[in-house]
Amino acid sequence: MPSLPNPKRATQGSSTQSVHAGGSRPYPHYALTLPIIQTATYTFKDTQDLSDFMTARMWGLQEGRTEYGRYGNPTVAGVEAKIASLEGAEEAILFSSGMAAITCTLLSLLSTGQHLIITDDSYRRTRQFCTTFLKRFGVECTIVPAGDSVALEAAIQPNTKVLLSESPTNPYLRVLDLEVIAEIGARREIRTVIDSTFATPINQNPLEFGIDLVVHSATKYLGGHNDLLVGALAGSEQLIALVRQNQWVLGAVSDPNSAYLLQRGLKTLALRVRCQNATAMKVAEFLQAHPKVDRVWYPGLASHPDHQVASAQMRGYGGVVSFELVGDLEQTSRFIDAVEIPIIAPSLGGVETLIEQPALMSYFELSTEERLEVGIKDNLVRLSVGVEDAQDLVDDLGQALDND
Ligand SMILES: *Cc1c(COP(=O)(O)O)cnc(C)c1O
Repeated sequence: MPSLPNPKRATQGSSTQSVHAGGSRPYPHYALTLPIIQTATYTFKDTQDLSDFMTARMWGLQEGRTEYGRYGNPTVAGVEAKIASLEGAEEAILFSSGMAAITCTLLSLLSTGQHLIITDDSYRRTRQFCTTFLKRFGVECTIVPAGDSVALEAAIQPNTKVLLSESPTNPYLRVLDLEVIAEIGARREIRTVIDSTFATPINQNPLEFGIDLVVHSATKYLGGHNDLLVGALAGSEQLIALVRQNQWVLGAVSDPNSAYLLQRGLKTLALRVRCQNATAMKVAEFLQAHPKVDRVWYPGLASHPDHQVASAQMRGYGGVVSFELVGDLEQTSRFIDAVEIPIIAPSLGGVETLIEQPALMSYFELSTEERLEVGIKDNLVRLSVGVEDAQDLVDDLGQALDND
C-alpha cells in the first residue's frame, strides 16, 4: 500500500507537519486520531471482487487496498506518509526496527561480488552486518574514517555500489558534509544512504543535499518515548518501491500498534527535539567548563572537529552529548552511579535522559585495547538528553562530578 504524502504539507513548517502530515481526513467514523487497523488480512466480497482487485494490481492501478498484512496496513501507511513529508521525500517505509530498515535496504541495493563503504564511528550492529553477514554472501566492505572524504573517495572500487554513513555518528557525533558525499555518489554512480537517527528531520534533511536514502531508527527520537521499536527509510518513489518489494519477502514489517505509537510520538517531535537541542547545548557548555571533564564531543561546541559543517547543514545539533572524564573505567562508572536523574540504559532520543558508558554497554566483552582499536575509551560517557529542565540536569551532573 504506497504512502501518498500530501504535497501541500511540504510547504509547511516541521511542527505543523509533525502534527498534521500523513493523514487523509476524515478518518473512519470521523475519528480525530489515526485509527489502529489491527488485522492480519483483508477480505473480498466475492470472487469478482477478488479478480477485479488482482487485475487492477497487475496493471499497477490498485491504490489504497491490499490483500494481506505484510503487503500493507492503513495505520502504517499513514505514518509512512508523515515521515516522508518530514524528510521531504516522495515516499517512506516503516520496518520492525532500525536494524531491519538498514539490513533490508542493504540487501536490496547490493548483490554478490559488489562492494560497499561505511564509516568507522557507527552503530555496532550496522558494522557487524556489513563486515560479517554481507561478507558471507560475497559482498565486501571497506570502513573509512568518518569525516575523511579523501579516504572515502580513495576506497571506491569499480564494484562499489553503496556508501553508508551515520551523520551525526555514534558516539562521537561526527558530522559528514552531506553535499560532498552526495556529489561523490552521483559522480561515481554509487547509492548514498545516511542514517540520520541522531539528527531527526527537525535538525537535518539529508535528501535536500542530494543523498539517495535516509534511514532512521524510529525507536529513538521519532518515537521519542522509549516504548517502541520501529525503523524507517525515506527516498524516491523508485528506490522505496525496490526496497518495499524486498520487505514483502524479508518480512520485517512494522505492526499497526507500534506504528500508532510512533505517529503519536511524532506529533511532538519538533517540540521535543528543539528542547533537547537547547538542553544538550547547555549541558555541553557546562561539561566543557568543568575541570573533571577531559573532553566534550558535541557538534554545537566550537571545539568539535565538525562544528562548521554541522552549523552549515543542520538546524540544531541534537540531544546527545558524549564526553570523556578525567579518570579511568572505575572512576567513570562511579560518576555514572552518582547521577540521579539520568537512567542507565542503552538507546537515546526519548523524553527520559539516559546515560551509558559505551565501554561497558555496547563493548563490554572487549578488552581496553580492543575497545581502543574501535575508538571506544574507558572514560567515555554518552548522555542522551531528555526533556527534563536543563538546570536540573546541569545541577545533577555537577553534583556527580564533584562527588568523587
Ligand atoms: C539504535 C540505532 C540503530 C538500530 O535501530 P533499532 O531500532 O534499535 O534496530 C541504528 N542506527 C543508529 C544510529 C541507532 O542509534
